[in-house]
Order: sequence, then C-alpha cells, then structure tokens
Amino acid sequence: MLIDQVENALFSVTVNPLLKSLISLFDKECSEDGSLLLNSLKDFLGAPVFLCPTCQHISSKIAKPFYELGSRFLHIDKKFMNNQFLNDQYGESWLRGFGLMMKGIEKYGVRIPFVPAGPFEIVWNITYQCNLRCKHCYENAGSGKRSELSTDEAKQVLDTLSRIAGVGLPALSFSGGEPLVRKDFFELAAYAKKRIGYVSIASNGTVITRDNARRIKDVGIDYVEISVDGATPQVHDEFRGITNAFERAMKGVTNCLEEGIDTCIATVLHRDNLFELDRLIDLSKQLGVRFMHFNFIPTGRAKAYVELDLTPDERLHVLETIGKEIIELYLEAKEKEIKRGASDLKVDRFLSTCPQYASVTKELSQRHGEKFMVEAHYAAKKGIESVANFLGGCGAGRLYCCLEPNGDVKPCVFFPTSEDTVLGNVLKDSFEEIWNNDPLLWKLRIRENLENYIVNGKRVGCGECSDKYICGGCRARAYGYFNGKVTKPDIGCIHNKPIWEKIAINEKGS
Ligand code: SF4
Ligand code: SF4
Repeated sequence: MLIDQVENALFSVTVNPLLKSLISLFDKECSEDGSLLLNSLKDFLGAPVFLCPTCQHISSKIAKPFYELGSRFLHIDKKFMNNQFLNDQYGESWLRGFGLMMKGIEKYGVRIPFVPAGPFEIVWNITYQCNLRCKHCYENAGSGKRSELSTDEAKQVLDTLSRIAGVGLPALSFSGGEPLVRKDFFELAAYAKKRIGYVSIASNGTVITRDNARRIKDVGIDYVEISVDGATPQVHDEFRGITNAFERAMKGVTNCLEEGIDTCIATVLHRDNLFELDRLIDLSKQLGVRFMHFNFIPTGRAKAYVELDLTPDERLHVLETIGKEIIELYLEAKEKEIKRGASDLKVDRFLSTCPQYASVTKELSQRHGEKFMVEAHYAAKKGIESVANFLGGCGAGRLYCCLEPNGDVKPCVFFPTSEDTVLGNVLKDSFEEIWNNDPLLWKLRIRENLENYIVNGKRVGCGECSDKYICGGCRARAYGYFNGKVTKPDIGCIHNKPIWEKIAINEKGS
C-alpha cells in the first residue's frame, strides 16, 4: 500500500510530465491513416498497418520503444496483448480501452489506480418501466411517470458515446427498469452495436421469449445477464413480486442459450436468500452459464430493506465460496496450458460486484502459491494480475459510469439519483467536461482520500487498508450508509467489521 502511495506522489512530480509530453508526440490524428495512437500499437504488435512516411517515422522512433518499455514495466506479455488486441473477437473494444488509457495518462498522468480519458463501460438504464416490482430495485422502476429520452434522442446519445474522448466507448450495457419493455429497444440495440464493440443487457428474463432471444442474437448483443434471486420459485417469486417469475426467467436463460448467447445468472445475495448460494452455483453449472453475485447496496427500493444486508462474515463467506470456484477454473486452465500449450477454458465465470472480491481471490490463490486475482467486477483475465492496482477495484466514475433514462450521468447505478449525484446530462452537457472536471468523480478516483475510524484504539477503514488500491470498497455502499459521504468505509468488508459492529450500525438509515 505504501509503495502505491509513494509511487503516486513520485509519478506526479517526476515521470508524469515526461510521459504526458511523450504520448502527445504520437497521439495524433492523421488525415491519411487515422489515429496514430492506435495504429502505432498495432504496428508494435506486428499487425500489417500501412502508415504515411511521417506516421511510420514517429511510430518506429517514439511509439514502439515507448510500448516496449511500458509493457516490460507493467509485466504485460506481448503475446497476451497480441491475442487481446488483434485476435480476440472484441479486439476493437480492447483497442478503444487502450486508447482511453493512453489518453488518460496524457491528460491526468499515471495514477494508481489509473484514470482513463473516458469510461471503459457505461451502464445505461434505458427505461424506468418494468413489468416486475422487485423489492431491491436500485432504480425504483415501474413506479410513477418519469421522462425518458425519445428514440431519436437516445440515438444522439449513442452517437456521442461512440466518439468519447475521440476514441469511443468500448462497452455498453442496457439495463433499467426492464430494457426489453421499451418498444424501440431492438432498434436502439442495433444502432448501438454498429457504434460500440461490446453491447450487453441486464434483464429480469421474463420477456425473453424464443422470439426475443432470436432478436437479441440478430442485433448482435454479446452478453445477457438475467436476475435470479434464488434457485427455487418460492424464493425468487417472493422477491420479484409476481408468481411464475422464476419459471419465466429460467425460460429466458434457456432461450438465450439455445441462441448461443453468452449468458449469466445474477443474484443479489441478502439474508433471506443466502441459504440458496450453493444451489445457485450448482444451477449456473448445470445450465453452463456464468454466475454474478450482486452486492447488496441500500439504495432505491433496497433502502427500505436495509436489515437484509449481509454481515461482514456472511459477505466473506459468499466471496470465498464463489472465489473457490474461480480459482479452481484458473488452476485448471493453467494446467491445460502447461500440458497442451493453450487452454480454451473460460475462467471469468464466477464474479461479484463486491470490490473486496479482488482481496479475497488474491488470498485464496496465494494458498495455492499463485498470484491470480479478480481485478474488477467484470475483469478476471489471466495475464493482467500485475496491473490489478492500476485497474483498482471500484470503478465508479473511473472505469465506468451510468446513464439514466433521461440522459443524466451518474458515477454508478447504485448511487441514488439526487442533486449531488447527477453530474450533468449527456445530451445537454459535454461528457468530456464532466469526466475531466466533476469534483465527485475526482473524490471517487483518489484512494488516498479514503477515511478511517478509531475503534477500540485501532485505526480501521478503507483508508488504512493495504488492499485499498485493488479494492477501494464500494463507494455506493459508503454513500448509502453515511448519508452521501463517499469517502467513508465500506462497512460490509471483513476488515471493517469493528466499524460495522461499533459505529456504523447506529448510523444505518440515518
Ligand atoms: S477495508 Fe475497504 S479497501 Fe480494504 S478490502 Fe475492505 S472494502 Fe476493500
Ligand atoms: S460504487 Fe463501485 S464497487 Fe460499488 S457498485 Fe458501483 S462500481 Fe461497484
């Protein structure tokens, strides 16, 4: 932790000014070849790119030596980069992510964790409408009439996103409400897919009929996440507020699978469904889908059910249980690689939105003498363990942000919608201006700001934690438990158990 802190201080006065001016030498838009930043990376990786003499000169003399040194410094294998950027089906999204990272270093310098020039992913709650009334809905969907963007306005937003920071957004996820109840959903999804490399949806699954699954496939949606609150109809339907919701959600899952869509079941685990954890994992294995644990966050309708939040011990149990599953996959993949030279096993099948998952998986893998860890909610890539502190756990307002159905921008879907969390509107304000300057975003990005408490004479809190650069605690939980104070500790973490017990419990809901 101290090393990261010292590095941050050193970088800001020594390396960063040099890096910024070096990158600016090859962050150019050429009228003949396009982005030299991206073309020079392809050139470095050995892809056939045809550059004008000036670009070729800058690429060989400045950009390629820069990439060579950078990849060595970060211990990133060139073969890994080659696979992700040039051979992966989502190579274009990886390239955009790389472009945003480089432009972020050029703008803000190297920081731990790093801040790209635009988000890698945006979750867009495309509608407030929903056919269900789930108890824990963060959007309080289906209640009241709130204005949403028209089809044309939504397309304008997608155009804006496709140009973020002059590079474009790598990944977009439609959520809600229930995205599929919006009448123009497929029109918007198809429009998005033409502009953004990776498009996914988070759905309650109940309207993913055979026909809709086919349409999801046809418009090119890459990934579908379906909420499942339990492995049985009793548990799921009770939370979802209607009967048959479980059966219909399961049908949604199998319909997606029949179309060959990458599918996931996602569960908010809380005290009333924790006993379903093992069965949910088994269910995901039987179905052959991913499993995503959603952290309980007291926001939206869930604020009224704060007593359902897991204790730090219960949360640790969840993270260790799913962590063991992903570590097993990691070890299996590694063994295959050793024996056969390669493995096609998907490792990122058991994930969690708890940023502490990085800390827990790090410890679990150390027990096997390994250094694998899950770097962020959605990132469990073998080969980038050494940059976990750059990726840095909670991505709110840094690697990711969210849009509301009316185009309002927020740091994360789990922040409530209020005057202090809405950063602007993507149609009316400049996204770049928000991203560069918003004070709440900068508060969320700087881990040295995280606070502690003294409990029984001991300093406890995310600020004190040696894992704060790979985790950082869920800032939406800090917001929810401490009246909007985003730098307070995440009291759901096992390291902060003394605060959960002694202090914050009194502040719940206050
Ligand atoms: S104390 Fe905070 S930063 Fe450390 S692991 Fe827990 S939640 Fe993450
Ligand atoms: S605040 Fe951070 S950790 Fe919490 S849900 Fe949002 S992105 Fe994830």
